[in-house]
Amino acid sequence: MNIDRRTVIAGAAAMSATGFAGVYAPAHAASPLATTQVPGFYRYKIGDLQVTAINDGFFRRPLEGFIRNAELPAVQKVLSDQALATDSVTIPFTTLVINDGRKLTLLDTGNGNSGAPTSGTWMTNFRAAGFTPEQVDTVVISHFHGDHINGLRLKEGTTVFANAEVMVPDTEWAFWMDDTRAAAAPDGMKPAFANVRRVFDPMKAQVKQYKAGVEVVAGVNAIAAAGHTPGHTAYVIGGKLLALCDATNTPALFVTNPGWQAIFDMDGAAAEATRRKLLDMAIADKLQVSFYHAPFPATGNIVKDGAGYRMMPVAWSPAV
Ligand SMILES: [Zn+2]
Repeated sequence: MNIDRRTVIAGAAAMSATGFAGVYAPAHAASPLATTQVPGFYRYKIGDLQVTAINDGFFRRPLEGFIRNAELPAVQKVLSDQALATDSVTIPFTTLVINDGRKLTLLDTGNGNSGAPTSGTWMTNFRAAGFTPEQVDTVVISHFHGDHINGLRLKEGTTVFANAEVMVPDTEWAFWMDDTRAAAAPDGMKPAFANVRRVFDPMKAQVKQYKAGVEVVAGVNAIAAAGHTPGHTAYVIGGKLLALCDATNTPALFVTNPGWQAIFDMDGAAAEATRRKLLDMAIADKLQVSFYHAPFPATGNIVKDGAGYRMMPVAWSPAV
């Protein structure tokens, strides 16, 4: 049947002539508009392990000044090519809960209540996923930036994971806990040193240092991934998932252009070398990857794309 505009108009006239509108009951009460998002957690299986990604909101910052070794127009072009904003960059936060059926391990902790107003949803999402902070056996920390450690201790001083052993990279601990280095740090770095002390000083008894290369907890192997910070660490989880942590920030920029260095990378050249090594490893070893700073649920696979790479996000699945 060929439906043209005249047919449609004639049809509409016929409907009103027969009282079509009266056939259906009028709408019931208007559905109120929601003011909150659904809980931000997502479960997936890695071998025998169950991984749950927990969202801690996001931080938005100006694009200008974010990448230290590229001109702004070049960065804007890469974002506009992906239909993304070109004035700001959105940096989401995603931690992982790893459950082997016996022990509960947390990989990084989010911002606690110390982050941007658009973050701080971690605990709500963690509880919505069915967990409580008391259940956590081990917290594994990738590095000591506030968005990864502040969830260990609230601003008021409360310890959040009272029953957990807190595993930290030994090189990271040595760097940030060095009194001489802290005293000599430039003014811009002093708050980061002070924050590390604020978080860890009252809980030294809970902290255990680990070396890169070891199996930190069952099924979670630490890989040295220095550059972003001196002791920054990535992980292979269950032999099948590579947790990149901050070896790349948002993939739209740093997977696409692995040579770009974020302002947060303490040693830009080392961070770039680490990033390339890990992305190549993901391809060679056919590892799924997870990010700390990618769109939720922040997991996917890596493919080569020209001079860079591309992240192919995992599709939401109703099956765990
Ligand atoms: Zn981070």
